[in-house]
Amino acid sequence: MTRRFSGARLVVASHNAGKVREIGELLAPYNVEAISAASLNLAEPEETETTFSGNALLKARAAARASQLPALADDSGLCVDALNGDPGVYSARWAGPSKDFGVAMRLVHERMAGAGGGERAHFVCALALAWPDDHAEIFEGEVHGHITWPPRGTRGFGYDPIFVADGYDITFGEMDPARKHKISHRARAFAKMIEASF
Ligand code: IMP
Repeated sequence: MTRRFSGARLVVASHNAGKVREIGELLAPYNVEAISAASLNLAEPEETETTFSGNALLKARAAARASQLPALADDSGLCVDALNGDPGVYSARWAGPSKDFGVAMRLVHERMAGAGGGERAHFVCALALAWPDDHAEIFEGEVHGHITWPPRGTRGFGYDPIFVADGYDITFGEMDPARKHKISHRARAFAKMIEASF
């Protein structure tokens, strides 16, 4: 049976400022205080799994054990059909040690040009909610669309400036964050989590 979250504080097990901000905004209506892993000086575990849900689980369990509080982790990424799902779970790594997503977006564009095969892509988000006793729940969401070039917009983070969701003609980088929060992969995984666990 799904375990429900009943506390007032939740550790957000991410060191990615863009994700911590979005998760904090998504949690705001539920009277839950989102505490960042960075503010607790929690170590960032290495993402050794090959699936989004595996990595989300690993991060949430590590943070819950270390903080002795329930913890929420997000593992997400961009999957491009023509690249057989790359960069996928390696989306953050394609930006290199300096976390330069200009570089990562160009890499996607160049590999797609080399591969041919269309522009379809989707974002995936796996959310893991873990408790200090290791119990965990996992929720996944996706948003489908296509890749555009050159990048457009300065809102959002990561690959947002090259992703256009189906039904829109602006990129996630140009979109009002309130709208992105209604349709994104993270919003969809979140809605599932809220329904099941809150
Ligand atoms: P990780 O889950 O920490 O391994 O990192 C996932 C990476 O996927 C992020 O660093 C972003 O580059 C990318 N990503 C995940 N969600 C989004 C999003 O909503 N917009 C743009 N990029 C995203």
